[in-house]
Amino acid sequence: MRQQRSKKYRKAMVTYTLAFGFRPPYQVLVDGDLIYDAAKYKMNLVKSLESVVQSKIKPMITQCCIKSLYDRGDDAKEAIALAKTFERRRCNHLENPLSQAECLRNVVNVKGKNRHRYIVATQDQTVRGQFRNIPATPMIYINRSVMIMEPMSRATEEAKRRIDEEKLQAGLNNPRSRT
Ligand SMILES: [Zn+2]
Repeated sequence: MRQQRSKKYRKAMVTYTLAFGFRPPYQVLVDGDLIYDAAKYKMNLVKSLESVVQSKIKPMITQCCIKSLYDRGDDAKEAIALAKTFERRRCNHLENPLSQAECLRNVVNVKGKNRHRYIVATQDQTVRGQFRNIPATPMIYINRSVMIMEPMSRATEEAKRRIDEEKLQAGLNNPRSRT
């Protein structure tokens, strides 16, 4: 990975950790298309993800996302084998499977928050666009065999600013910190 990009990613992960409580091994929710593309480009998916977030990860996949791979048939054999090694995130849509996009929205967005602190690895641009409005939702995708982490969204920056202000305020109101 290029030096500059690596530095930027490290800085982002420090923010997600200190301000928003992310902890390694990071839970990375991976969609079927990203696994499929990783297999197509012969990438070591887990290693690539770990080099982006610069720490250990726990790869996870929802039931609907793995179903999307089965729907691709033989073409996705390698991707399915890999997906099977990931922790299965029960989404409870098995009886009426959702599209990957719908499923991710359901699992990640809990009342406007990324409550389970997922890093979302998805090839779906629309989903990434929507998740930019959910503060502290790190996102990763593959662009021509390069694993990319999206820059922190405006909603995330804004949430971080508020947290910093609250901390400062709490510090000012705490007599012990005035010495
Ligand atoms: Zn689902």
